[in-house]
Amino acid sequence: MKVTVDQDRCCGAGNCVLTAPEVFDQRDEDGIVVLLDPTPAEDHHTAVRDAAAVCPAAAIALGAG
Ligand code: SF4
Repeated sequence: MKVTVDQDRCCGAGNCVLTAPEVFDQRDEDGIVVLLDPTPAEDHHTAVRDAAAVCPAAAIALGAG
């Protein structure tokens, strides 16, 4: 799995951080998403898919690899 985030779309809702805190963080100053791990281990994949699904801005994209 390859994860990308679009910081221009992100509205700082933080749902991704609550759902997959090992993979996503937020910038202290404005809450915009920070990708901690673009190639998360298998045991995080379900949480990452859930995070992408709950992102209100559709700012999280998942790809193969
Ligand atoms: S859930 Fe989406 S909009 Fe919210 S912080 Fe994460 S990437 Fe940004």
